[in-house]
Amino acid sequence: MKTVRELIREAENKLDDEHKDVNVAKVLFYHLAHKEPHELYLMMNEEVDEDLEKAFLAGMEQYYQGIPIQYIKGYETFFGRDFKVNENVLIPRYETEELVENILYRIDDYFQDYPHIQLCDVGTGSGAIAITLALEEPRLNVIATDISQDALVVAKENANLLNAKVEFRHGDLLQPLLDSHEKVDIFVSNPPYIPNDQQIEAMVKDNEPHVALFGGNDGLYFYRKIFKEVKPLLNERALLAFEMGFDQRELMEKAIHEFFGDYPFEIIKDMNGKDRMLFIYYHLK
Ligand code: GLN
Repeated sequence: MKTVRELIREAENKLDDEHKDVNVAKVLFYHLAHKEPHELYLMMNEEVDEDLEKAFLAGMEQYYQGIPIQYIKGYETFFGRDFKVNENVLIPRYETEELVENILYRIDDYFQDYPHIQLCDVGTGSGAIAITLALEEPRLNVIATDISQDALVVAKENANLLNAKVEFRHGDLLQPLLDSHEKVDIFVSNPPYIPNDQQIEAMVKDNEPHVALFGGNDGLYFYRKIFKEVKPLLNERALLAFEMGFDQRELMEKAIHEFFGDYPFEIIKDMNGKDRMLFIYYHLK
């Protein structure tokens, strides 16, 4: 029988040999053993239960095969809450937490005296953005859409598990909202924005849904389509909030100018100093 220390050491050594992320061993162990990091120290010399060892080695094997740790665990933490994920949805990213945070600031700035605020999240995936916003700001009425039925299954399950009131609609981009003549105060989207032929990490490309990643030849296909069609969905005053690629500022400014003329907008950097969020102020300032 192995001790916890031996089991984790062996896994870390193998990860290191294969130039993979050594943290994964502990992350997987915490998950399977239902332990917090500080509890691990207390059990380092204990012998590992046989079932736990088996599950751990099976999980590590999946990781060596190239499966992201979040799909192996079955969830990712976003804004302090656990969201179920599987191969039908993009794994929520830290950068996207910053988008949510910046939307919340702008709700304080521009919608302070609104008793209710209508918001839509287009291409919701796991539902991370829509559900977090609904839970953080009770004045929001949130509608979330996706073209993928399989993604909506995951998003609905997350809304149920987290007790969030979000209305989900199936359909292509704005269509489900246009069909029901929706009007929103805040339009949010983190559309696929990676240019089709851009080289990306194998672990992302081989596992995460391409429908959530690739955005046409220059990555802006979905933004242009949204910019072109979104006006009938907007209330008189509205905020548009998007995540975007770090190298898309110039193309984005051109597209905004083409479809929104001189409306004020901001491109904000993420914590890595990369252009990541776009806000368009539609009759807001
Ligand atoms: N941020 C994701 C990545 O770089 C892409 C998400 C998206 O296209 N919206 O893997």
